[in-house]
Amino acid sequence: MKRAKSVSAVPMGLVLAALLAVPEVTAAPTLAGRAVWASPRDAGLTEASVVAYVEQLAKAHVNTLVMEVKTSAGLFWPSTTERFAPAVVAEYRDFDFPAILIRECHKRKIAVHAWFFDFAEGASSYVVQQHPEWLALSPEGKPTPAEVLRGRPYRLAWMCPARRPGYTDQWLIPLIKEFAQRYDVDAIHHDYVRYPGDLAPDTYCFCDYCLEQIPKDAGYYSPAHPDHPLLAPMDRPHLEAHWERSPKVLPPNWKDYSREMKSRLLLEGSFFPGGNRDLDYFFYEYRAHHVARFTREVFEEVRKAKPKVEFSAAVFKNPVQSGRFIGQDWRRFAPWVQYLMPMDYRSHYGGEFETHLDLLAESIQQQKVWAADFDHLWIGVAAYQLYDAERAPLDRLRRLLREGGPVSEMQAELDKVSARLKVYAPDLHAAIVAHLREPGSPEALAAKLDAFLSGMPVGYAQPDRLTKVLDTVRAQGVDGVVIFSTGGLAAGNLWDAVGDFFGR
Ligand SMILES: [Zn+2]
Repeated sequence: MKRAKSVSAVPMGLVLAALLAVPEVTAAPTLAGRAVWASPRDAGLTEASVVAYVEQLAKAHVNTLVMEVKTSAGLFWPSTTERFAPAVVAEYRDFDFPAILIRECHKRKIAVHAWFFDFAEGASSYVVQQHPEWLALSPEGKPTPAEVLRGRPYRLAWMCPARRPGYTDQWLIPLIKEFAQRYDVDAIHHDYVRYPGDLAPDTYCFCDYCLEQIPKDAGYYSPAHPDHPLLAPMDRPHLEAHWERSPKVLPPNWKDYSREMKSRLLLEGSFFPGGNRDLDYFFYEYRAHHVARFTREVFEEVRKAKPKVEFSAAVFKNPVQSGRFIGQDWRRFAPWVQYLMPMDYRSHYGGEFETHLDLLAESIQQQKVWAADFDHLWIGVAAYQLYDAERAPLDRLRRLLREGGPVSEMQAELDKVSARLKVYAPDLHAAIVAHLREPGSPEALAAKLDAFLSGMPVGYAQPDRLTKVLDTVRAQGVDGVVIFSTGGLAAGNLWDAVGDFFGR
């Protein structure tokens, strides 16, 4: 009412002018966490390219950068520690990438989280070659690179989180500590802080250490009286009601069991002979415990040296399910992780795009309950993945060109995106059509696709789709968003959409 009065007091012309003018956006961004996940290759290999990269972040109102510093490829800082130095990626031996990046980010008030692939190494990683005994093993005694996934060799080498001394305390924690001591980093970011989930999500780890430790940890026998059956009167109607006195669970000839037989018992056996097949519960509990234990140990070690460094973690969307399938019950991370970043990616939800938005909203509401003990809940969104329908056919077409695939298959891929391509990249469309009619140089055309896919024309990837996802996230009342990844945003030409969203 008050406002209407004051409007009527000024001349009508001025009122109209004020109504028609586009309001200048001068207000500060309202979302507390405006973060992006990034790979070092997104920032280039020179000081100038890093500066330009950080400028772009600042322009889009990003205030937190989560940058990879340890991946399955190696380390992205020039570690001079003798045992770590061979693990440094070649291009980063003489280029102190984190030092320049952090300096430039801090100049622009952008916080930096150093992103570590915790338990995932590469099949040919230096540490894997040096310490194959630290690898996680299947019941057959094989490490993950021996597995085949979708017809191809599995590339990640998963390390055993539980083993001591082992990868966790001899390699990973000292490495993170070195980084935190050397650089003015704001937080350490956990990723792959779990067991593998895309192979058989319940068959790691059965290394020698875990085969010893799981029965000990769950009290399946008494180390002081290993052969005692520890039987007690059965005076209650329910078999499992006699659990407190803990009878000996392991069979008398346990030590003669092979690794496979031991693994099978630990996964499929019963606490009481003839009772529920419940030993898997203790196996999953053991895994969840060791992953959470790592987050505590690394927190304590780093805080000793740098009392203000914080921690963030990329986690799966549902801790109840990921606790069972990958040992990642992230509710247990709360005291040692301040920023929880669930990867609420499109690929983690079924249904059509609109259905997925409903599932996403539902999921975030549930995550707010699960994450009640964390200081911050920032929702992870995979931007580039929203455009798989537009991008993947061209990606496959490019592979077919390089592998000399059949024209009919290439045509089928083109058909999926032909209409959009004609509008947004008519030259490329014409070049593909011409090649399919009368093949020229496949490499020349594949190179054109390289260029297209690393910087798609504005609109080919519709920014609306990303904006809809981001708006759905914001509507749930969380305090931050973290977008995967800066490389994908550049490739999809989506920086303006992100800048508009973060600037609001
Ligand atoms: Zn193990």
